[in-house]
Amino acid sequence: MNIGINVKPPEKECNDKNCPFHGNLRVRGRIFEGKVVSDKAKKTVVVQWEYLLYVPKYERYERRKTRILAHNPPCIDARKGDVVKIAECRPISKTKSFVVVEKLTNKAGVSK
Ligand SMILES: [Zn+2]
Repeated sequence: MNIGINVKPPEKECNDKNCPFHGNLRVRGRIFEGKVVSDKAKKTVVVQWEYLLYVPKYERYERRKTRILAHNPPCIDARKGDVVKIAECRPISKTKSFVVVEKLTNKAGVSK
């Protein structure tokens, strides 16, 4: 059950082999927090967060955003609007090498 990072394990179980808790997926590398902006793909979510980048020429900040595709195991089942924690893993597909490891808030903004 311990996947090597300090997260609360999901209450549900699943039989997804690409699940860090119930399958064979190992997580290593970087960990990010972001908001789910799309859950249209099967077992995949788009996680996005914004940050400010300083532009010396204009002495101002510009707003940039990062979008990452992450695997969404059935036991976590993150939906659009959720704030989630994602961890890097081996590449699951061409564009997917992160997995959702914890749901931090649900749609109503209530911390779980
Ligand atoms: Zn699972």
